[in-house]
Amino acid sequence: MKPVIKKIEFTKEEQEEIDKINKGIPFPKVRTVTNKNGYTYEYTSNKRFTYETARKRLRELYSGICSSCGAWPSYIVSRDVGDKHQGAKLIERYCQTCFSKWEARIKR
Ligand SMILES: [Zn+2]
Repeated sequence: MKPVIKKIEFTKEEQEEIDKINKGIPFPKVRTVTNKNGYTYEYTSNKRFTYETARKRLRELYSGICSSCGAWPSYIVSRDVGDKHQGAKLIERYCQTCFSKWEARIKR
């Protein structure tokens, strides 16, 4: 079965977020609070991601890590591995380096 290759792409906003996370730039976080008198306040605080939250957020944006080396992936490769009884898809993610190696291997 021929694998399906998809390049991981981000929207402009996502790409900006990734760049900010990588550079450690704090994010303005807006919180609105309405008090009992009906006044609404908007609070803005600059939040810097901790290492863990940054990694968690990046993992979300990249939808995983490279199956082979654990770096941030650039490609998603999915393959049908099911049989006639049950459909199944094997999904692997590869960074640019591992993808080139993988591509060279399957083209042989
Ligand atoms: Zn890799």
